[in-house]
Amino acid sequence: MPNEESPLFELVLHGERALAFGLLGEHLGHSHSPAIHGELGSAPYDLVEVPRDRVCAFLEARRFRGLNVTIPYKKEAAQACDELSPAARRLGNANTLVVRPNGSLYGDNTDYHGFSRQLASTGVSVEGRSCLVIGDGGAAATVRAVLQDQGACEVVTATRRGSEHTLPLAALNGLDCLPSGEAIPGTTLAQANELRERLSVIVNATPVGMYPHANDEVPVRLERFPQLACVCDLVYNPLATRLIQEARDRGIPAASGLLMLVAQAKRSSDQFLNEERPDSLEDEVYKTMRGRLQSISLIGMPGCGKTRTGLHLAKELGYEFVDVDDLVVAEAGMPIPQFFATQGEEAFRDLETLCTAQALAKPGRVVATGGGVVTRERNRFLLRQNGPVVLLTRGLEAPPQGEDLTLEGRPVSQAKGLDQLRAERAPLYHAWADIKVDPHPDGARATARRAARAIQTWMSL
Ligand code: NAP
Repeated sequence: MPNEESPLFELVLHGERALAFGLLGEHLGHSHSPAIHGELGSAPYDLVEVPRDRVCAFLEARRFRGLNVTIPYKKEAAQACDELSPAARRLGNANTLVVRPNGSLYGDNTDYHGFSRQLASTGVSVEGRSCLVIGDGGAAATVRAVLQDQGACEVVTATRRGSEHTLPLAALNGLDCLPSGEAIPGTTLAQANELRERLSVIVNATPVGMYPHANDEVPVRLERFPQLACVCDLVYNPLATRLIQEARDRGIPAASGLLMLVAQAKRSSDQFLNEERPDSLEDEVYKTMRGRLQSISLIGMPGCGKTRTGLHLAKELGYEFVDVDDLVVAEAGMPIPQFFATQGEEAFRDLETLCTAQALAKPGRVVATGGGVVTRERNRFLLRQNGPVVLLTRGLEAPPQGEDLTLEGRPVSQAKGLDQLRAERAPLYHAWADIKVDPHPDGARATARRAARAIQTWMSL
């Protein structure tokens, strides 16, 4: 018999704990699903981890109202059902289970709807296009079905090793051997070269680029696809993976996995609650979740007011304020000028990158970055992965005499002088900024309000 220490699934199986809604998987870790279902009204929503040898018994017992199912149990979920939706039957897996009033179990695959929404959000029609799906797991199968149903003229799958029916990613990236060192046959290389010329839609259906490995290489090099028109990444943490950021930098419409996650949850929630609500609810919940998961980076000249404005902005948005300089001092165990003098600029920049990544690792933050953060290209991805980069423009133009920024405690500014610093950094600040905020004559609080409005507008675009 289970006791107080027993895992949730044991308690549910033995009727000692009721389960309304939840997510079933083997190892769940942190999940956004409880928060999303809380917004959708399908609550209480629990995370239910079940070991492989107990999953069939758990599904057979049907002691729940509605369940979402994730890796690796979607196939078992479909097999346990009395009735399947057309999508679940076709794909052979179910991510949504509902126990009907007569006790029968119904299964659906709402990922199909979720990916359709994500794809539609790019504004690009796939009809008549050649599409590439990266990965060959359960999600990739769903993506392929959507692309085929929407009229793609060809859907090619690529995997890291390649197989009878998939191309090796390395060949698409212009390499002639696999990561293992094994040579790729010439016929496969020729096929990949031809394909690259006509592929115009790329979907990443692998975990590549997912936190905490967000710094991984991109799965494919976008510059190698001359016809590229649209990129989707199923990864939703970070909100903008390196692949998505690179696509946007190239002006290519790109959609990240959060909308898919919310849209599939909404379709599941409708079935859990037995009511069909409008798609506009997906947009509302998507916006709410994006607001909760994002972090804002403040950049600008040393002394431009990132800390003062940042504190007010955090209050305006209901976020936490973090100053990277404070983290650097804590990590270094000494003031910045001393660290700089003893360890040199390179060591300081490395520490700054580490602390910037730490500061931005949690959502719901306004992060004041160091003035020199833009001098290292690698920081750019970090700043943009979960929200906009906001430039405070104060001090970017040389002010009238006697009104310049303070140089106290800023070794680089003191060594170079503000004019040279401006000349070097102003183009970088402008290039990195998603939003530019001019100083308000009434001070930091008013500037912060101005920034909050600009962020709302940016989010609604
Ligand atoms: P899965 O069945 O485990 O398949 C994962 C696929 O990714 C496999 O083909 C695997 O290839 C490949 N892969 C793993 N690591 C790789 C790497 N380092 N390089 C290249 N390929 C790699 O998982 P899934 O259910 O299809 O999910 C795939 C991804 O989509 C996950 O990140 C998941 O979180 C995401 N997803 C998002 C949503 C959403 O709502 N946004 C919904 C479903 C899934 P091998 O066979 O070679 O290992």
